[in-house]
Amino acid sequence: MPTHPREAEGLSEREQQTRLRAAAFLVVGLPIIGYGVGTGIAEGSPALTILGTLTALAVSIGAFLLWRKQGGYRAIRPGIACHTALMLYLVAFSGTEHARSLWFLTVPLTSIMLLPPREGTAWSIGAIAIACGLMFQAGGLEGSHAYSSIFAVRYTILALMITGVLCWSEVLLERYQIRLQNQNAALKDERDHLENEVIQRAALEEELRYLATTDSLTGLLNRRAFMAALAGELTRSQRLNSPLTVLMIDIDHFKQINDSQGHPAGDAVLVHLSALLQEQLRSIDKLGRIGGEEFAIMLVDTPADAAGIVVGRLLEAIRNRPAEHPESHRPIAFTASIGCTERHPDDDELTSLSRADRALYAAKQDGRNRSHWI
Ligand code: GH3
Ligand code: MG
Ligand code: MG
Repeated sequence: MPTHPREAEGLSEREQQTRLRAAAFLVVGLPIIGYGVGTGIAEGSPALTILGTLTALAVSIGAFLLWRKQGGYRAIRPGIACHTALMLYLVAFSGTEHARSLWFLTVPLTSIMLLPPREGTAWSIGAIAIACGLMFQAGGLEGSHAYSSIFAVRYTILALMITGVLCWSEVLLERYQIRLQNQNAALKDERDHLENEVIQRAALEEELRYLATTDSLTGLLNRRAFMAALAGELTRSQRLNSPLTVLMIDIDHFKQINDSQGHPAGDAVLVHLSALLQEQLRSIDKLGRIGGEEFAIMLVDTPADAAGIVVGRLLEAIRNRPAEHPESHRPIAFTASIGCTERHPDDDELTSLSRADRALYAAKQDGRNRSHWI
């Protein structure tokens, strides 16, 4: 069942529309009611004067409350009731030509356009029934003049036709408004859904990017990501003509560690070494795990002499800080060999890394636990 969504200030969409209509009716209606009150005073008719004054008051108070966004339909009902009573009075006491009774045709207008359509229609039909009764009784009331039957019947039919047409158009308008509101709500739901989807996809993309560039055991850059970073850094250092040193580190006799202490102990050594290397390097240097027990390092803006000091410090730290067995917690001592090379002017990532690899091979040949420069 569709409902009117309430606005922040507590009025429904239709009540907000009613505010605008009420303002229009007030501008047109209040001077006419004022004229009626003036006529009542001039004719010495207390009933017309009092009814006109009450209507003007009730309508003005209702309009004030609506303007303050208080009350909604509740603010309108007293004004409609007073206005209807005034109009019924004019039907009953309409003079010899019954011209005043025509004002009654404003009742369907005000009630249907200012109240909810069905309530306004019921109100209008009730008022027409009373007006019809008054027309047939008019000749018998003191100060009133009889209507002809043909006038009363045509008048009633006209009032009912106005009521019917207004009711029909207001119901259609209400249905259209409700459909529009439901469509807006559905669009909002769809937009929220799409926004969530975009956020989820962005998170998923970020996760995929992380998985594609990161080694799962150590959290370091994987081979592909390291090579991409090295290519970028080589381009940058060639353009700026800044030095760059590439290192390749391989754990000595790692197979023996695996064989004698178990594969989990080997993993613990790899994790330990990656943490140790990260700790020894600057944040601008890049470190990656490019093979089983092989790591590569880019020392950014670092010439060979300064890099030599870093390499000596790394070898020293590896020798002096053994890893820990994951179960027995006993120390696992190990060493590593390091192949070192400085950037050449025409290097790309493959040539510089393969030179570091050859230097590493030479360090192994020289007896391991040492570095070698090419
Ligand atoms: P060298 O001093 O010449 O480097 O000898 P090595 O034993 O270190 O070299 P080798 O290439 O013979 O052995 C490397 C071993 O590393 C073999 C492989 O099982 C092991 N390995 C590779 N990846 C992992 C890993 O993720 N975890 C563990 N625990 N072992 C690994
Ligand atoms: Mg090895
Ligand atoms: Mg190896």
